Amino acid sequence: MTKTLKIGRLPQNDLTNAWDTILPPRQANRPLGGNTRADWLVVGAGYAGLAAARRLAHNRPDEQVIVVEAGQCGENASGRNSGFAIDLPHTTSSNLDELSSAHRYMGLARAAIAELDSLIRQHEITCDWSKDGKYHAAVTEEGTRTMLQPFAKELEALKEPFRWVEREELAAKLGTSHFQKAVYTPGCVLMNPAALIRGLAESLPENVTLYENSPITQISYANGITVETIDGSVAAPRIVLAANGFSDQFGFAENKFVHLALAASLTRPLTLEEQRDYGVEKPWGLTPANGFGGITMRYTNDHRLLIRQDIRVAMGQKFSPLKTAKIAQQHKRLFDARFPTLPAVTMENSWIGYICMSRNGAPMFGPVAPNIWMATCQNGIGVTKGTIGGLLAADMACGRDNPLIADLQNLGTPSTLPPRALVEVGARATIGWEVWKNRREA
Ligand SMILES: Cc1cc2nc3c(=O)[nH]c(=O)nc-3n(C[C@H](O)[C@H](O)[C@H](O)COP(=O)(O)OP(=O)(O)OC[C@H]3O[C@@H](n4cnc5c(N)ncnc54)[C@H](O)[C@@H]3O)c2cc1C
Repeated sequence: MTKTLKIGRLPQNDLTNAWDTILPPRQANRPLGGNTRADWLVVGAGYAGLAAARRLAHNRPDEQVIVVEAGQCGENASGRNSGFAIDLPHTTSSNLDELSSAHRYMGLARAAIAELDSLIRQHEITCDWSKDGKYHAAVTEEGTRTMLQPFAKELEALKEPFRWVEREELAAKLGTSHFQKAVYTPGCVLMNPAALIRGLAESLPENVTLYENSPITQISYANGITVETIDGSVAAPRIVLAANGFSDQFGFAENKFVHLALAASLTRPLTLEEQRDYGVEKPWGLTPANGFGGITMRYTNDHRLLIRQDIRVAMGQKFSPLKTAKIAQQHKRLFDARFPTLPAVTMENSWIGYICMSRNGAPMFGPVAPNIWMATCQNGIGVTKGTIGGLLAADMACGRDNPLIADLQNLGTPSTLPPRALVEVGARATIGWEVWKNRREA
């Protein structure tokens, strides 16, 4: 492996994430400056990096952990998601491996939810964390037959609690008659993801130092590990790479990740009059029967509605403001079609976030070289998988026995992809086909 690598692809910090902009302003931690040393270095302060840092600090209370984050906590991918901490496997074709080991998968997801739940209580993190469950919904008869019924069968086989919700009840619960049927499962937790990630960053143990707004532009593996930012450097004997899709530049995950851009919009809060017209009292979360063709939606505690729609291949992890503006218009159209009684409701903000997926749905987890661990590639379900991946990577790194490590390893390792040009064409074609095939589920 090359000893020194330049890191050219850096996260864009465009401050468009509504989950973050609706919160009170936050003073980010100071950027890295000067040359410093630590016992452990963690790259990235998303769910994975923060969980890894917290666990390293807990396992080794006398050692110093440094986390270097390119952007600001809350504004990064972990703060930009739809805010579902999901306890069950998704029923998309990309996750077939996970489905085959569903019990192990659920154990991992639930351990992550329990960890977050305990931290939220312990540190009094205000993030609207609420076990509301979720509706997995289909728009068409065909969607119900081909996607929801197999999902329900699987839940039966797993002995997991669920309930069918028919059109009328669904319309009353969601305030839209757009959906034909849903399978309701009670274990999913909803939250404001930016508030959660801010709270996790602000409650790190004393032996963790977090630097924000500090993109790493170079890493060297000669005589230990040294990372450099524009104003400083950190040297450490050991590192956990938790920069998700950006981690493939650090030398160990080349040709493993497909990078995708996901778009979301959050409305302003409904006025009291609009809330009366809308007629729904309880917050809810909905995932579409088909993850490519359908739309994820939420109604939040503070009376906002979320639309998460549009998924694109973005191997360069860059998206133009023009495209975001087009997506914002598209989301408003989708919103109006679903909620015709709320025509005056505007979007607070629309934003793009990046996820990475592997060809076989496996995470990139564990040791990749002496003193180097990875906790990346959450395949779009990073609240739980990122949290548990970071925590378990730290346990592995400290030689701490944890039976969940084997369960996570059992999800496999990412298979190698063809050259980038082929991946782009192939992934675009696959997603385009999935979206077209499931267009009636939108
Ligand atoms: C719109 C959208 C909706 C989603 N909805 C859900 C959902 O409801 N539930 C769910 O579970 N998941 C969801 N996801 C996926 C989830 O957000 C991600 O899987 C999760 O954030 C991954 O966490 P992570 O810690 O691995 O990586 P990230 O959150 O991506 O964190 C990695 C960090 O590394 C930093 N970094 C990168 N490069 C460098 C560098 N050179 N130097 C320093 N730092 C660097 C980044 O700034 C970033 O903060 C969604 C994603 C999007 C975009």
